[in-house]
Amino acid sequence: MWPVREAPAKSILTPTSGFIKHAGFTHSLTPARNCTYGCTYCYVPTMGLYAGLSAEESKRWGQFTTFKANAPELLERARLRDAIVYCSPLVDPYQPVERTYELMPRLLSALLRQPPRVFTIQTRAPLITRDLDLLKQLSAVTQLRVSMSVTTDQDSVRKRYEPFCEPNGARLAAIVHLREQGIETYATLAPLLPCNPEHLAALAIAASERDLIGDPLHIRSSKPHGATTRKAAYAIARRGGEEQWFQPEFQREVTLRIQQAAAQRGLNFEIGTRGFALLARADRLTL
Ligand code: SF4
Repeated sequence: MWPVREAPAKSILTPTSGFIKHAGFTHSLTPARNCTYGCTYCYVPTMGLYAGLSAEESKRWGQFTTFKANAPELLERARLRDAIVYCSPLVDPYQPVERTYELMPRLLSALLRQPPRVFTIQTRAPLITRDLDLLKQLSAVTQLRVSMSVTTDQDSVRKRYEPFCEPNGARLAAIVHLREQGIETYATLAPLLPCNPEHLAALAIAASERDLIGDPLHIRSSKPHGATTRKAAYAIARRGGEEQWFQPEFQREVTLRIQQAAAQRGLNFEIGTRGFALLARADRLTL
């Protein structure tokens, strides 16, 4: 089991910058530091101190987490009315230890009392369905979206690149469940791990019945600055003969194949900030 720590935070909403800002979000909400999913490609530890971790802690990515224990109280005092909030760029809010720590129900309850304009939850955890009642209440008072990361259609790939994450089939089932309960839920194909692109697109569209969002693995040749893929994922790709998934030309080809698969169903596949902008739209009047 992963060590779980608690530490008070000075603030809970951070004005956005970079990718998330360009997508249209005004604030991010990060409930913990370090993510116990520990994905081999995770961009966050490559940000070093920007992730709220020391350089030493960044080397132990995924091996512990520190919850911001006072987050709900801070949220109660925040001014949220016009905020377009992304939760979270630096940790999965439903990381494995959230099952017992249960911070998210307290955060969602605080948001109910003071709803922002838009609140988007980015997760890969079917655990989010635990909070369905609160999500339904919140979607009545704000524009609530769930963006569920779906990375591959092959569980053998998932086991190598993100062994502590639930199978993508369970994530697709969670998308269906949330959608059927009226929650605006997207399948976000990011990062795109080795897969059959057309099959993955078909599964994701069948589950979400919406446009798809996604992104290939970040690589230095097409993204020279900022967070990038951890070295551990490159080593796994080398061992599996999957290096082309880190090559720009191949990534463009995969993107195009998913766009064509979506277009055959009358839908779009948007990548980068254009994709994440779908999660930031404030296109509904809230109460
Ligand atoms: S779930 Fe997201 S934040 Fe957590 S380790 Fe994986 S990629 Fe990083």
